[in-house]
Amino acid sequence: MPDYPKLVAANAAGEIFDLPDFHAAGRSGREIYPLDPALLMPLPASSRLYFLPQRVPVGYARKNRAPQRLDEYTAVAAFLPPAYTIFSVAAYHRQTAAPLLPIYAYSAVCWYQDRFCVPALRVDDDIKHDPAQFSLNKIKKLVEQRRRQFPANRLISHHGINCALRYGCPNAQNLFLQRWEAPIAVSAACNAACVGCISEQPGDTVQSPHDRLGFVPTVEEMVELAVPHLESAPQAIVSFGQGCEGEPLLQGALIAAAIKKIRQHTSRGTIHLNTNGSRPAMVSLLCDAGLDSIRVSLNSLREPVYAAYYQPRGYRFADVIASIQFARQKRLWTSINYLSFPGVTDDDEEFVALARLIEASDLNMIQWRNLNIDPDWYADSIGLADAPGTTKFLGMPRLLKEIRERFPQVRFGYFNPPVKAEPFAPRSVKRNKFKTG
Ligand code: SF4
Repeated sequence: MPDYPKLVAANAAGEIFDLPDFHAAGRSGREIYPLDPALLMPLPASSRLYFLPQRVPVGYARKNRAPQRLDEYTAVAAFLPPAYTIFSVAAYHRQTAAPLLPIYAYSAVCWYQDRFCVPALRVDDDIKHDPAQFSLNKIKKLVEQRRRQFPANRLISHHGINCALRYGCPNAQNLFLQRWEAPIAVSAACNAACVGCISEQPGDTVQSPHDRLGFVPTVEEMVELAVPHLESAPQAIVSFGQGCEGEPLLQGALIAAAIKKIRQHTSRGTIHLNTNGSRPAMVSLLCDAGLDSIRVSLNSLREPVYAAYYQPRGYRFADVIASIQFARQKRLWTSINYLSFPGVTDDDEEFVALARLIEASDLNMIQWRNLNIDPDWYADSIGLADAPGTTKFLGMPRLLKEIRERFPQVRFGYFNPPVKAEPFAPRSVKRNKFKTG
């Protein structure tokens, strides 16, 4: 008998096992369906398996292929490391009083060919966030060393103590390892109220994984962090706009001043901005100041779905699109951080809207990053139709294939690429010797 994906569940003792009488299920939007073995890959190293409290697994009985709730078990999901885009979220039935799930992505997971498998794809071969690249002990020493070197720099302390050590942020860890992409958080405020914001949540929802930055750094603090990194790191990038802050465009004038000052010291490396794209005029200012690359985050290219999730304050969806188009006109490397959720991102109408944006903007790159959120919370927030079968979606694999075939010039990935790559650090640069003021 050919092998098939088996349902994975947990019992009250916290043991996780497969149930061979049930074909594993996945979910897109509110639709539940049997997992297709052709779309599975082995569970990536460093993934985590989660129990989903007060949620019971749903599988397809082998004997009659009917969907079935298994009320005596707890549903299980997988959280995958960065670089992997999921095709199906976990299928479960939520009990009435179930708490919201913490802000992570919940991939379907099954047992297939004697191992855990997930419906997912590695979309970026860059290793810069691979857990195997990081040694926490080494990073601890480097954070201490850099803080001793720059005792007055609040930004270096924040990215060291909070981001690198407390949140385990790979960009922050790479700052101290002096390689690849490094963060520069700058904004304590935001002009959106995303349902799944990772830096600030109202008290009655779920805990945000990060605390929002509590100060605005000075130009000198930013320059002191950025210049040594750009001068010496391999594939150097410094990025404004991080998970631990609000919207950087609200501090656009300060960022413009920092970029100009940084470029007085070095022309090496990429200066990048992660943003919600809400202020096209500020994007223009930053382009003129010397920004090299921009990534605009959005969950949807359909305005009602965008507005329901982002809850913009004082800007419109049209401003976000204008920022993308404007950045391309200024010849910046322009990406979207396309916060992907099966059943929404691959909706038929979403596909049309994405194709329209690519055609209208000459977009360079799509980063297919999983949206971290409780799946039911998201479906409710954006008003996804309750009745299964109401929405039509392509399926994530077909969406990626269609976009790839129709727009071969658009790069797929998960991370910001260096757009001014310089493979070797200049010999004259001594790491960590830079100081301003
Ligand atoms: S734009 Fe970013 S910081 Fe602002 S609410 Fe959304 S996720 Fe949070």
